[in-house]
Amino acid sequence: MIIGLLIPLACLFFSLLIIIIYFSKPRVHNMENKIYKRLLIINFITLVLEFVCNYLTYNYIKIISDITIRIYLCLLTSFIAYMTSYMAIVVSNDEKVIKKKLVIYFIVYIISIFFIFLLPVNLKTGKYGAYADGMGVMIVFFASCIYQVMWLYNLIVSKKQNKNFKYIPFYIYLTIGQFMFFYQVLHPGFQLVTPIEMFVCMIMFFTIENPDLKMMNELEVAKKNAERANAAKTEFLSNMSHEIRTPLNAIVGFSNSILEDTSLEEAQNEAKDIIMASDNLLEIVNGILDISKIEAGKMEIVNVNYNPLSLFNDISKLIKPRIDEKPIEFKTSFGKDIPGILYGDNGKVKEVITNLLTNAAKYTDEGSIDFRVSCINEKDICKLVISVEDTGRGIKPEKIDKLFTKFNRLDEDKNTTLEGTGLGLAITKNLVEMMGGKIVVQSKYGEGSKFTVYLSQKIISMVDNSVELEKVEEKVIDYSNKKILVVDDNKLNLKVASRLLKKYNVVIDMVDNGFKCIEMVKSNKYDLILMDDMMPKMSGGETFKKLKEDKDFNIPVVVLTANAISGMKEKYISEGFDDYLAKPIDKIELERILKKFLKKK
Ligand code: ADP
Repeated sequence: MIIGLLIPLACLFFSLLIIIIYFSKPRVHNMENKIYKRLLIINFITLVLEFVCNYLTYNYIKIISDITIRIYLCLLTSFIAYMTSYMAIVVSNDEKVIKKKLVIYFIVYIISIFFIFLLPVNLKTGKYGAYADGMGVMIVFFASCIYQVMWLYNLIVSKKQNKNFKYIPFYIYLTIGQFMFFYQVLHPGFQLVTPIEMFVCMIMFFTIENPDLKMMNELEVAKKNAERANAAKTEFLSNMSHEIRTPLNAIVGFSNSILEDTSLEEAQNEAKDIIMASDNLLEIVNGILDISKIEAGKMEIVNVNYNPLSLFNDISKLIKPRIDEKPIEFKTSFGKDIPGILYGDNGKVKEVITNLLTNAAKYTDEGSIDFRVSCINEKDICKLVISVEDTGRGIKPEKIDKLFTKFNRLDEDKNTTLEGTGLGLAITKNLVEMMGGKIVVQSKYGEGSKFTVYLSQKIISMVDNSVELEKVEEKVIDYSNKKILVVDDNKLNLKVASRLLKKYNVVIDMVDNGFKCIEMVKSNKYDLILMDDMMPKMSGGETFKKLKEDKDFNIPVVVLTANAISGMKEKYISEGFDDYLAKPIDKIELERILKKFLKKK
């Protein structure tokens, strides 16, 4: 019996045992785990090859033993290269850093393998068994030294950060491994490198790579992540509660004071403040809805033909009063070559620009805000370059990275008096990217910022003749001989609807449930029904179905709903409703509905 192989024989047994246990248990799948699997297999094969090499050397099978010993040396190098890769993953969480390190390790590995096959390896027999020497063997030694220097470097660097028990196998290899190595050098034929590798694998199994331990660790990490997410949600809710209460406070306060006002002018001014606070509130709610839609992957791009110039002008008109509250000059400039009709999601383009202009207005106290749109037309594609530049407070360079992260508000101390949720830019970036565009920020702290959006839209036509016609039509709004039925279980909503409809001179009937609606339709002739969906006992949808049972029923029914999540409009339309009106009712949307269904015959 060859004495030098006694220890590898015992190790072979343990290696097999660990492989069986390890592979028969359910495991988590990650990079560390993958590498450990390879370490186990490599170690097992090297142990087997030790016996094969001994057999071949003692039996003088020259060529086969020469190739086998080189494969054996390659596997020894692979083991230590994989250990080094394992360390790279344990030490850092940064994927880029890990990748860089792995590339270096791989280069060292490839060079070593090349020389192992190129340089001479001599097989010899000694007192304790067969062994090899020569330059090929020295290469394994050199490579191993290089890798171990890298370990030492990683251990020193990472020691400052944490005491990680994942480093235990490396400490063992670095200490006991050296003794074993020198013992083997002094007693050629004794095989001790593979046993120390086996020992390291065993230590890893009992400390970090045991499937059960790994599962528990993963569960612990998942639990911590869930707790962190929960804490973020709680913080978000408390922030939102504050953000929502602020405009609500204004609405309740001003509404109460209107009751006590003696002059109409005072009341009108306060009503304006109420509208502003309500818009603010709506902005917050829409922001939350948008971000949840984006995160759930439910935000959809709805492309239509639109006139970009009138869109930019409308946005400018909308934002102007807000800018005019401060000594800020509002400049606009739209390229002369912007096509008349583009094809794209005009709603989202509007949202993006409005967000940027609102921010510019919020974070600028004096100076100017410059809203510019230029374009490059190539074939049927219009590359829009939309920029919003302000002379406001600017953004610190180190904060620019955080700018597009949701719920992130910079300069919290300065922001306390400004309304905002930290959602605007996160939504803006997502919307721009969904439309295949790009957003870029340039900013100088204390001097101002410039946000530029690059967006490509399809050109439908270079000119648009329809604008003038619509404007003329806009003024004619008198539906005095038309009759509308409004169905809503909420008295306040009925009141709001009737108030909004009053100026159109329509005849309005109001009922607070579906049963009454069906009765009223039997005895009256309506031109339009506005129907709330969420009603107790019989929903709007059910009422609509009942109405449709009558084959002669041909009154257009528009669903009224506060359920503004994406896809709702399509759902209602597919149920047969003629159109959709979101609550709170937007004046322009209402006008569109009236125009569509109450055209003078
Ligand atoms: P919000 O305005 O609701 O806080 P945003 O996501 O729109 O949220 O903006 C995030 C942060 O970026 C703001 O809190 C503000 O500190 C900063 N910011 C955004 N636009 C500008 C700008 N034009 N000038 C200076 N700071 C800005």
